[in-house]
Amino acid sequence: MRAANPRRQLKRYEQSIAQGGLRLTRQRRHVYEVLLERQDHPTAMDVFLRAKPGMQALSLATVYNVLETLADCGLVKKVHLGRGSARYCANVARHGHFTCTICGAVLDVPALPGAELEKLHQLPRGYTVTHQEISLFGVCAACRKEQN
Ligand SMILES: [Zn+2]
Ligand SMILES: [Zn+2]
Repeated sequence: MRAANPRRQLKRYEQSIAQGGLRLTRQRRHVYEVLLERQDHPTAMDVFLRAKPGMQALSLATVYNVLETLADCGLVKKVHLGRGSARYCANVARHGHFTCTICGAVLDVPALPGAELEKLHQLPRGYTVTHQEISLFGVCAACRKEQN
């Protein structure tokens, strides 16, 4: 899978923030850059710990706010993977998440072209899906190798 292009994503960031009528603050940009740096689905606390050294004035509350704003703008996806805190994903391509139940690693798994997830379930009449999260759980290749 090809890694996201950080420069292109920063451009998208500027456009999305502007479209949302928001200011391009240093804090927002810094938090977004931290998310792009290592796309391993960090929690808000992880993001805070990574972002703090580059911006001493940053607080955890601000990081939460910024992450919510970025999610509202569609730049970041808030992901719920079973138990534990929400995680944040800067990959805006359509994808699901594979969580290794042994090491806890979270991997982006792209949707197959043409796959229509909406058609996998029978919705009651009058219901509309507005968003979806695909979470797969299992054992990653490295952990499986170690098991054998
Ligand atoms: Zn993801
Ligand atoms: Zn694993």
